[in-house]
Amino acid sequence: MERAKTGLGGRGATNDLQQRVRRAAEQCLERDGAVGPLELLQQMLFLQPVHFQAWQKGNPYYAGLEPHIQCGPAKLEKTYQHFHDWVRQQGLAPVEVPYRRLTPNGPEILPVTADGDVERERFFRTRYAPAELTDKKAKKRLDKLDKAPEVVVYELTSPASQCSECHAEILKGSLLFLRQTQPLCLACADLDQLVFLPSGGTALTRRARKYSALSAVVVRFSRARNRYERQGILVTPDALAQAERECGEATSRG
Ligand SMILES: [Zn+2]
Repeated sequence: MERAKTGLGGRGATNDLQQRVRRAAEQCLERDGAVGPLELLQQMLFLQPVHFQAWQKGNPYYAGLEPHIQCGPAKLEKTYQHFHDWVRQQGLAPVEVPYRRLTPNGPEILPVTADGDVERERFFRTRYAPAELTDKKAKKRLDKLDKAPEVVVYELTSPASQCSECHAEILKGSLLFLRQTQPLCLACADLDQLVFLPSGGTALTRRARKYSALSAVVVRFSRARNRYERQGILVTPDALAQAERECGEATSRG
C-alpha cells in the first residue's frame, strides 16, 4: 500500500523510495554477505517473508513466487532501478545461484517466475556480493545461505488429499511430501521407513538427526499465526534407538 505523502512532489517520493531501497539493501548485505532482488523485496516488505518461506518449502500454492510480490509495477520497476544503481555504486559483483530446496532425491531448483521466463529467472537468481570475494567464495557463501537444510514433510491440515503417484488417500493429520508441488504419501516419497520424533527433547533430537542417514522435519501450518510450525522430525529407527541409548546414559551418568 502506497503511503500518503502530502506536501511532497514526485521528486520527494522518488528520493524516499531510493533511500528505502538503499537502506534495505545495505541491511541485507550486512546480514547475509550478499543481496538479490528477493532478499531486498523481503526486507522492504514488498514480499512477505511468510510467502518466501512457503515457496522455499515447496508449498503447492507457490508455483512461482513473483506473483506474490505486493508492489505496483511502476514502483517495482523503480525499486529495481534504485537497487541496481546502488549495486554499481558499491562495486558489487554478480553471482548466479538458483534458489533450491532439498528433497529425498536431492536438491530441486525453485522457479521464481510463474512462467519460467529465462531472463527473469536469471534476474532473480543473480545476487550481488563484494567484488573482492572470488566468484567461488561468493558462490560457496550463497550456497550455504540458500541450502534448505532439511527435507520438509507437512502434516495435512485440510480435510483430505490424495497421493499424486499411488492415489492413496492422505487423511487429515497424516504426513505428506510435496514433489514439484504435487502431494506424495510417505511411501511414494521413500520416507516411510522413518519414525516420528516429536519436538521437545533438544538433546535427543540433535543426536537422532546426527545418526540418521536420512531425516526430515515435520511442519504444520498454523492459521492463527500464519506460519509453519515445527512438530518434530522423522529419523531412521536405528538412529532414534542409538540417540535414546545415549541420552539414557547421559541422564544416568549425570
Ligand atoms: Zn503414494
